[in-house]
Amino acid sequence: MTPEEKREKNRLYMRAYRALHGDKERAWKAANIDKLRAQARVGSARYVNAHRKEVQRKARERERRKRAADPELARQKDRSSYAKHIERKRAESRASHARHVTQRRAQQRKWREANRAKRAIYNREWRESNPAVAAALSKAWREAHPDKAQARAWRSGANYRARKYRAFIERVERDVIFRRDNGRCYLCGDLIRETEKWHADHVIPLAKGGTHCYENLRVTHARCNKKKHTNIPKGQPTLFQVIAS
Ligand SMILES: [Zn+2]
Repeated sequence: MTPEEKREKNRLYMRAYRALHGDKERAWKAANIDKLRAQARVGSARYVNAHRKEVQRKARERERRKRAADPELARQKDRSSYAKHIERKRAESRASHARHVTQRRAQQRKWREANRAKRAIYNREWRESNPAVAAALSKAWREAHPDKAQARAWRSGANYRARKYRAFIERVERDVIFRRDNGRCYLCGDLIRETEKWHADHVIPLAKGGTHCYENLRVTHARCNKKKHTNIPKGQPTLFQVIAS
């Protein structure tokens, strides 16, 4: 008897047995349902373990076929699943964002630096072709960042004046000069009060070859500065002495 014939004989025997004793078998199954289910679970887990790749591939294929057969239903299920697990989904998304935020910022910064000239040209062209939007955006930014806007306006005005004299220009910040000089006027020596206007003054005037950089800038009262005009004050170091010191 071949194995095939043996299996066939077995099947016939089982069918005959069930026809006679089907009730007994059903009763036994009902009495042992937990045991049978546990056995099935173990067998199924063992199979999945042994054929993991295959099982996963088949599951993906099944999922793909289902989506292709009814894409609208699939989208609905996605949406309801998202809604059901919204808290977990949001937490996952936040965590992933946090995990990659440093990396992403570094990449963005690197790209911006590598494409500085390109960006400047693109930005200028964009502003020229969208003047109303650009003005509105700029106004919104100034209102949101009044301190930064003021600093930028001062920098741009100061650079403009320095360029007129063809002076050497360094990127300088008004508040850095103020902090460095401890808010003290270099002409009269007094502290500048909050209500008083003050200038960042060029020790060697731009008109006399002074540079627009930290070494040549000092904090002064606006009133003291006006008295000074473009005379280099007596007893003040010249730019060359400042650089040498
Ligand atoms: Zn003063």
